[in-house]
Amino acid sequence: FQVPQAVNEPIKSYAPGTPEREAVLKAYKEMYNRKIEVPLYIGSEEIKTGDTAPMNPPHDHKHHLGDYHKASKEHVEKAINAALEAREKWANLAWEQRAAVFLKAAELIAGPYRYKINAATMIGQSKNIFQAEIDSACELIDFLRFNVEYMTRIYEEQPESTADAWNRLEYRPLEGFVYAVTPFNFTAIAGNLPSAPALMGNVAVWKPSDSQVYSAQVIMEVFKEAGLPDGVINMVMGDPKMISDVVISHRDFAGLHFTGSTTVFKHLWKQIGNNIDNYRSYPRIVGETGGKDFIIAHPSARPKQVATAISRGAFEFQGQKCSAASRVYIPKSMWEEVKKYLVEDIKSFKMGSPEDMSNFITAVIHEASFDKLAKFIDAAKNDADAEIVVGGNYDKSKGWFIEPTVILTDNPKYSTMCTELFGPVVTVYLYEDDQWSETLKLVDDSEYALTGAILSQDRYAAAEATQALQNAAGNFYINDKPTGAVVGQQPFGGARGSGTNDKAGSILNLYRWISPRTIKETF
Ligand code: GLU
Repeated sequence: FQVPQAVNEPIKSYAPGTPEREAVLKAYKEMYNRKIEVPLYIGSEEIKTGDTAPMNPPHDHKHHLGDYHKASKEHVEKAINAALEAREKWANLAWEQRAAVFLKAAELIAGPYRYKINAATMIGQSKNIFQAEIDSACELIDFLRFNVEYMTRIYEEQPESTADAWNRLEYRPLEGFVYAVTPFNFTAIAGNLPSAPALMGNVAVWKPSDSQVYSAQVIMEVFKEAGLPDGVINMVMGDPKMISDVVISHRDFAGLHFTGSTTVFKHLWKQIGNNIDNYRSYPRIVGETGGKDFIIAHPSARPKQVATAISRGAFEFQGQKCSAASRVYIPKSMWEEVKKYLVEDIKSFKMGSPEDMSNFITAVIHEASFDKLAKFIDAAKNDADAEIVVGGNYDKSKGWFIEPTVILTDNPKYSTMCTELFGPVVTVYLYEDDQWSETLKLVDDSEYALTGAILSQDRYAAAEATQALQNAAGNFYINDKPTGAVVGQQPFGGARGSGTNDKAGSILNLYRWISPRTIKETF
């Protein structure tokens, strides 16, 4: 069996004068003023429940993009039933047929839907065009293509047979349905969480984040156009607690594929535990949750490289990445030079609407996020053990804009060194140059373990950090920023409070969505 060799989708440049720049701007402008209603997608139906919530661009929060419809308890039950009805045919379909749906979806996004899904991500989640292209086009395409390749590798794995017994493994999907709960910050993750289990023959109920519904709808359109049969993926929006309560108390709940906050994931896990006697099978629980991702510079590191790792790692995507650098450890002797480059970099970042493609920083996702960030920034202005080095301003009159902000602290346990903020704020702690090994212990002392980076020109120091921080990050970078994992290249995920470390964009994730049967046949 040969499927097309998975290759990473090339990133388009969107440089001034390119056709792609014109095309995405045209899509952006057309979509911006066209009010839309996003229905629930349940089985063959698109349901407008009449119970709606508005959608507003984070960079222009008074502008009304339209509304999405919210599910009642009955709609969630209907979505589960639609999934279960679709299950038998879908689970028994030859894998080539399932693969074809998702390979086609990848081609639709690479081609006719590219500008639409990018514009939707720019408008609904306030990403600049480069961030949208990397996320909603390239990464989503990569997930879809690479997962097909990984699936075929799994299916190839077969046990030994003997002269009188033929042994085989049949890669069945889970018995029941999968619940996909997805975040606002990556359109690609929103597309991957329901589609990876579905590729393996599962059916899903998908709850996108309230703040990502605008681009979630485009994903559903793509899946439908690619020929995904009705009921295989059902999209429901609405009160998250109510939706999760209905889903998790269902006897046929068979798996959770989650990306979001640590608190919500723990809550869902407990709820699953409480319902364990009601289930047909033990549910698979896969989650990517919070992060408090670090950069540590060794005294041998190059100051300019350290500054770039911080400014890119902390501020790209407005810091709204689980992987974003948010605590930094720099030797005292190096700080003045790093600071000079860092300030230079940050001053060059323009902030504003994604429609102006020269803007590097756009708005954070919503008011709650804005208020949380503003609160921590204000505290840093007043706390004796912290100071603002650059940034520190915010403005919510038009959009949820927070200036890229660097906090300096002499307290390694200062609140912003430990609390996940999910925004464009990074905290720097300066360590004594001769305290390198002690500082590694400080870095390791975190409840999270998602990503981290060591910058060092000294090979022994890099090796020491790699060893000392072996449990501190599921994605560990040497002489780079701790963000920007690429599907097929850096399988992504962390442990501790950061998740179950089932590595999105890798074969390891797909193993969680199968319940194989061993068949022995004697001759
Ligand atoms: N995979 C992304 C990265 O490596 C982050 C995903 C996330 O924020 O959940 O930067």
